[in-house]
Amino acid sequence: MDSTLKKCSACQEHKPVTVFGVDRSCKDGLRAYCKPCVYIRSQSKKSKASRKKWVDNGGLERQREYAKTAHAKTVRNARLRASRLLKKQERIIAKVSAAVSAGELAHPTKRKCLGCHECADEYHHHNYRRPFDVTPLCRDCHVSLHTYMRHNGLDVQR
Ligand SMILES: [Zn+2]
Ligand SMILES: [Zn+2]
Ligand SMILES: [Zn+2]
Repeated sequence: MDSTLKKCSACQEHKPVTVFGVDRSCKDGLRAYCKPCVYIRSQSKKSKASRKKWVDNGGLERQREYAKTAHAKTVRNARLRASRLLKKQERIIAKVSAAVSAGELAHPTKRKCLGCHECADEYHHHNYRRPFDVTPLCRDCHVSLHTYMRHNGLDVQR
């Protein structure tokens, strides 16, 4: 074995002795773990310690109490609704693109944007219950339409 290499007891890799810290109590004068391993261990020890400190300070209790509050419920429900809506949107987009590839619906780029009459990029839905009732819009007009709707509390019918 090359004497300039040393096996790290943590990662079991042979590494140059320069990546090992000095430890006079060891027979070769070097630490058993390489520097990256020492660092990783110190980090996980630190995070365990800070987790423990958080628990000791009543963190779990606070978390449980917070979970019962109306605010936490609202946040949870909003997340759930958003993820459901996203799935619904994905299904509708899949339906629309299937119709486009089947030739049942023109590709949006073959149509004119309803806003600026330039070439459209994508389809906008007024109502997700009618997946094929779509409005061709260019990217810019589509973004401004959604911004407008958001600002005015209007939303796509779900
Ligand atoms: Zn190592
Ligand atoms: Zn446009
Ligand atoms: Zn839209």
